[in-house]
Amino acid sequence: MEKDTVIFFDTTLRDGEQSPGASMNLKEKLLVANQLTALGVDVIEAGFPISSQGDFEAVKTISQQIKTSSIAGLCRASEKDITTCWNAVKYAKKPRIHIFLATSDLHIEKKLKKTRTQILDMAVKAIKYGKSLCKDVEFSAEDAGRSDMDFLCKVVEAVIDAGATIVNIPDTVGHTTPIEFGKKIAEIRRRVPNISKAIISVHCHNDLGLAVANSLSAIENGARQIECTINGIGERAGNASLEEIAMTLKVRPHYYNVKHSIKTNELYNTSKLVSRLTGILVQVNKAIVGANAFAHESGIHQDGILKARATYEIMSPADVGVPESLLVLGKHSGRHAFFKRIKDLGYKLDEKTLEHLFEKFKILADKKKTVFDDDIIALIEEDTSSGKEIFILNYLSATSGTGTIPTATVKISKNEDNKKTKPVILQGAACGSGPVDATYKAIDQIINMDIKLTDFSLRSVSSGEDALGEVVLKAEYKGMIYSGKGTSTDIIEASAKAYIQAINKAKLFYDNKKGK
Ligand SMILES: [Zn+2]
Repeated sequence: MEKDTVIFFDTTLRDGEQSPGASMNLKEKLLVANQLTALGVDVIEAGFPISSQGDFEAVKTISQQIKTSSIAGLCRASEKDITTCWNAVKYAKKPRIHIFLATSDLHIEKKLKKTRTQILDMAVKAIKYGKSLCKDVEFSAEDAGRSDMDFLCKVVEAVIDAGATIVNIPDTVGHTTPIEFGKKIAEIRRRVPNISKAIISVHCHNDLGLAVANSLSAIENGARQIECTINGIGERAGNASLEEIAMTLKVRPHYYNVKHSIKTNELYNTSKLVSRLTGILVQVNKAIVGANAFAHESGIHQDGILKARATYEIMSPADVGVPESLLVLGKHSGRHAFFKRIKDLGYKLDEKTLEHLFEKFKILADKKKTVFDDDIIALIEEDTSSGKEIFILNYLSATSGTGTIPTATVKISKNEDNKKTKPVILQGAACGSGPVDATYKAIDQIINMDIKLTDFSLRSVSSGEDALGEVVLKAEYKGMIYSGKGTSTDIIEASAKAYIQAINKAKLFYDNKKGK
């Protein structure tokens, strides 16, 4: 018998981007969308077009540029939302409108202040309208995990009659357990008479750490679309992690007996990319893509692995694309070798960007003996994540030591209207509890914005004592969280760059909002 296909619907760019501080700019979203295509994702949910102008533009641009995966946009069950969504996804080769409406009594009564009859009516109307614009329309019964089964079945039947091609059963608040959730999917298949005309999808949240287990249980019970994100990022505790589901299906093919199009050897790259761009680090013991996922520490295990890998290893690092050799380039590497390495790492960049990166590479190679893949990726992503730069770091000097007061002097150029006028050079100096603190205080003096650092982490990008240090931080400005990232062989400089990047994002976002 022909195997069923499980559709992978990735919502890293929509639900994942809703993680606090994870917001990405257009260039970053395009990098992620391209990588998701390389990974073999069937559907990319690119955003929620009506939520902001930026989201609309991102969905539209991704729709125009991505040729293989379907592109979905999210919208509420109203004509205005659906029209806006369509105007963003209509450029895609395979567009999809994704309409959601809550079906649990709690949401219907408390949030929407409506009755079940009104909800049923709204859902049908919305699907019919969506269907008049786009042939691929998905309906999501928000909070399905806590909805009354009789009512849920009735809504599912009605939206399929109205033309929905996919019906999504989300466990919006991560409340159900695996066997219970599987039973719900089986019950929908049993009770909804026209269910064979649509594909059942699930969207599980990880509040109890059960998102992947619930999704797999749904597959066992007939769900054929899985909504998930890279590294499991998303609202609150996040979504089901794509890499864990894909690898479970690969490692246990006879148990699940389904096919899918994920190229698992792209998982590691994708995970790294998303982690870097969102500033959300992957925990070391995370399944599949964590730094320790393939590290064997115990002597007995190491001995077993050396005798036969299968003793303690159910999958190989190569299956998920962990690179075997990390060592690549150095001071004497030429332009050609550098460009080829970038291409091999999966980046398609234009000539100008490549030349610009080569200059940065040469500066780095002078400071560092060996340049690793991770260093190159850091260079590329520092470049693409910077976006429009209002403030640029020109000069930094910080001193600290036992018995001295840490002080910093900073010079920053301010370029308000994108190079139309000459930039203004500003300078500041301050003392602090340490050199980073002093640097941040000096920057604060100059920029004059009430910005508060909420999270700061420093790690080494690659190995060796001359490794690049990477600072990832989050800062709050007027109630919004912005992430910043900086790399350098000097950790004070990396800290300053990361802080200025977050400031640039905040200033840009706030100025755009004011301008509207
Ligand atoms: Zn969600």
